Amino acid sequence: MALACEPDILIADEPTTALDVTTQAQIVELVADLQHRLGTAVVWITHDLGVVAGIADRVAVMYGGRIVETAPVDRLFAHPSHPYTQALLESRPRPDLGGRDLPAIPGSPPSPFHLPSGCAFWDRCPVRGDSRCEHELPELVEIANGHAVRTFYPDRQAGRQP
Ligand code: SF4
Repeated sequence: MALACEPDILIADEPTTALDVTTQAQIVELVADLQHRLGTAVVWITHDLGVVAGIADRVAVMYGGRIVETAPVDRLFAHPSHPYTQALLESRPRPDLGGRDLPAIPGSPPSPFHLPSGCAFWDRCPVRGDSRCEHELPELVEIANGHAVRTFYPDRQAGRQP
């Protein structure tokens, strides 16, 4: 129904969640066609990084209600620079895991009603620093053309988990 109006902008909130892969592919194809034929701008909200890699031009990773990293899609997958983005990418199924459990991010996201004063990822971050991370909110800072990250330590890389 929303697509029938040929909108200038479409906000698709988890449109493929819990669908089988065939139906998922049909929806992605339909929206991609709309994008190309009518120039519709699409904001696609999802947890599915595979879909993101397939359809997005630009990605904004959110945590605790804020953008923590944004970049063109190829750049984000090649150079993830926020520990949360790195952990998300590490938790994807991969052939090199060889039957081992998928790496998981320990802990839970903060309540939106009780966000910490500092970095919202602080208590789950594998490369967190001193009290600065706990008590100061990092700004979103551009580290390369079109690539911005919200962390005090963009050069710290979370190691690949076993
Ligand atoms: S600001 Fe500190 S706690 Fe937050 S993601 Fe960066 S290193 Fe981790």
